[in-house]
Amino acid sequence: MNTTFNINNLVRANIKALKPYSSARDEFKGTADVFLDANENPFGELNRYPDPQQSKIKEKLSTIKSVETNQIFIGNGSDEVIDLAFRIFCEPGKDKVLTFTPTYGMYDVSANINNIEVIKQPLINDFQINLNQLQPYLDFEDVKIIFICSPNNPTGNTINTDDIEYILENFNGIVIVDEAYIDFSSQASFIKNINKYNNLIVSQTFSKAWGLAGVRVGVAYASEAIIALYNRVKPPYNVSTLNQEVVLERLNNQFEVSKNIETILSERTKLKDALNQLDIVKKIYPTDANFLLVEVDNADRIYQYLIDKKVIIRNRNTQVENCIRITVGTNQENKKLIEALKNI
Ligand code: PMP
Repeated sequence: MNTTFNINNLVRANIKALKPYSSARDEFKGTADVFLDANENPFGELNRYPDPQQSKIKEKLSTIKSVETNQIFIGNGSDEVIDLAFRIFCEPGKDKVLTFTPTYGMYDVSANINNIEVIKQPLINDFQINLNQLQPYLDFEDVKIIFICSPNNPTGNTINTDDIEYILENFNGIVIVDEAYIDFSSQASFIKNINKYNNLIVSQTFSKAWGLAGVRVGVAYASEAIIALYNRVKPPYNVSTLNQEVVLERLNNQFEVSKNIETILSERTKLKDALNQLDIVKKIYPTDANFLLVEVDNADRIYQYLIDKKVIIRNRNTQVENCIRITVGTNQENKKLIEALKNI
């Protein structure tokens, strides 16, 4: 437990005074027969506003992840989890956040939109955190959030658990551990630590292993106090009825999700082996995610060549020189990529 951490010192002044949005329907206890409170249309199937608390999803996740329902926030993708953190904890034009680069681009985008400066610390030695270099920033009062992406995008590796725990114990701000790719990883999730560290937010998503990127549903797990702050600032109806239903259905079909993860992991091995046979490939970094960071002799040329073959990979934004990032696709898709690269 980080004993010097005090959430009240961290919350933006205007957020402290806010109450969560609550409708007449939320305040009503019991089962109503007639709904004339929200100016909805009485006809149709999707005529009612969605459940603003997403109660059914939270109940299910509470069982699966062994947390309380009031330790869960459901967002419009985990990008909303990130954006709302800026709005809760960072005073525009004044506060700062810290990221470890190369990493997920949205931390920067959200910071820019919210007028927050980003301090960037390069990852070292196969993309791990340099704690010595980080040390002075842990005491900076205007650094409000540290983002740790594990497994990290675009490098694919997980961040050492001991280093994450060191930061949680020694930083008086919020630590967001972004676990968008955790279900592909052999490393345990940090969710089990939300009762131990009151400055921890674990972010997960239905977009990757759960296969629902089009649905836009992400999740934050944190202390009840932090989740209460999210509930104060979130748009009341941030997850549509249809999206809630699709997520619930997927949560009731975990077997299929596990099967898909296994297939992706076995395809990842095959793809890696096939890439290793190619002369253009210099190095494939170890990965715990559903993508590979690959060093090649000329990233721009390979990217453009593949575009002409109607295959898209990631080139710019990997932020690692001469590296491309390749998502693991179906067996057929991966074969198409390899065949194209053989003929380059
Ligand atoms: N975090 C990381 C590390 C990601 O790579 C992504 C998506 N590329 C996200 C979060 C955003 O996920 P979502 O679709 O839930 O907004």
